[in-house]
Amino acid sequence: LWGKIKNELADVVGSDHYRNWIEPLRFAGLNEGTATFHVPTNFIGDWVSRNYSDLILGRLKAAGVPVTRLNFTLPQHRTQPRPSAAQPMAAAPRPAPRQAQAAGGGGDDGLPGAPLDPRFTFDRFVVGKPNELAHAAAKRVAEGAEVTFNPLFLYGGVGLGKTHLMHAIAHELTNRRDGLRVVYLSAEQFMYRFVQALRDKQMMDFKQLFRSVDVLMVDDVQFIAGKDSTQEEFFHTFNALVDQNKQIVISADRAPNEIKQMETRISSRLQCGLVVDLHPTDYELRLGILQQKVENQRQQYPDLVIADGVLEFLAHRISNNVRVLEGALMRLFAFATLVGREINLELTQECLSDILRASDRKISIEEIQRRVSEHYNIRLSDMIGPRRLRALARPRQVAMYLSKQLTSRSLPEIGRRFGNRDHTTILHGVKKIEELMAQDSQLADDIELLRRSLEA
Ligand code: ADP
Ligand code: MG
Repeated sequence: LWGKIKNELADVVGSDHYRNWIEPLRFAGLNEGTATFHVPTNFIGDWVSRNYSDLILGRLKAAGVPVTRLNFTLPQHRTQPRPSAAQPMAAAPRPAPRQAQAAGGGGDDGLPGAPLDPRFTFDRFVVGKPNELAHAAAKRVAEGAEVTFNPLFLYGGVGLGKTHLMHAIAHELTNRRDGLRVVYLSAEQFMYRFVQALRDKQMMDFKQLFRSVDVLMVDDVQFIAGKDSTQEEFFHTFNALVDQNKQIVISADRAPNEIKQMETRISSRLQCGLVVDLHPTDYELRLGILQQKVENQRQQYPDLVIADGVLEFLAHRISNNVRVLEGALMRLFAFATLVGREINLELTQECLSDILRASDRKISIEEIQRRVSEHYNIRLSDMIGPRRLRALARPRQVAMYLSKQLTSRSLPEIGRRFGNRDHTTILHGVKKIEELMAQDSQLADDIELLRRSLEA
């Protein structure tokens, strides 16, 4: 089956990419929804995991394989990998990653968790304004001294570090306290487990297992919204653990009360601890993350030369999603190593043209709201919030105006993104700014500046 999927992938990714990245993968087994592939070097593993995970997962699922996660590791008892032209990366002198078993995934303690990514530690999490609260809260939970807020609910958009923080908590807790039963899994895995237990008539075991953990972490909980019996079971598990004063950590792509088809009694329970959001990354955070990733790769590629301005360019041009940012950097490294050139702006533009084009493509309303709120030094949440203070209303109107000017969204659509305001409110805001700009050249300049930075 993998052979067949591989062939399909060849068509999708093109022959060069196929030869470099897909061809070397060796299917090594499926366990608890995790498909493991052996890779000749960690670099290839990293690369494939960052760039092709979704694609491979999608193909496997489409072929009926019950898989939710991919894992790329070096073969356990590997002999020296055979160098070949098809594998441009010299075998990395990096030790094989210790496949963390902290969450009990596949461990012999029978805990129902998924494996942890050994790279997702606090050390490797770069802290900036947009994520400092989430980071601080995660750190606090990771100290594990006492249960101060339960649950910790982390939310935010794709690729902003929710999973990273959760794994970091699990790593730290298990390092600090031997024998602590920490279970991390996605809500999707929770559901599979649940359905499986129902089917195999092992609900008692299921309940007992989940009620006996010390710390439960469920990632992407929005997944079980609308899945009634899974929600119900999750709710019982949740309550049982809270009653025992066991720590729970939950993540989702949005706030608890914004998860549609999540029962109100559940979402209100989810809010009774601490709810913190990861904000979209800003330029500084992106730059910090890039610098850190470069440092991490340094050990592996001591000769890598990156010209001044390249990281700044990437931080500026590539969107919020840290995963995309990392993917871009990895590709750059691979490409530079392959062609033996230093990484400068020219190479960067050449190598990342598709990614750069994609992030150029459209300016989103969210992006406009973020830039405008940064510019006026107000909170992003006040952009869409109800407060009528003049100090908030003006920036909000500026953002409405720019949304009308720079996106193809209709007034009602814009209204929805400004906290469900009526389209007449948006129209009023746009008109107001047009009027003011005609009288106030300072404001006009300001807006022109914002427009240019958004279009840059
Ligand atoms: P989410 O679960 O929110 O979609 P992830 O936790 O999977 O996002 O993060 C996506 C990628 O970006 C991961 O490789 C993660 O290590 C990286 N990442 C996200 N935020 C940070 C950060 N602040 N510092 C370092 N790496 C980060
Ligand atoms: Mg995640």
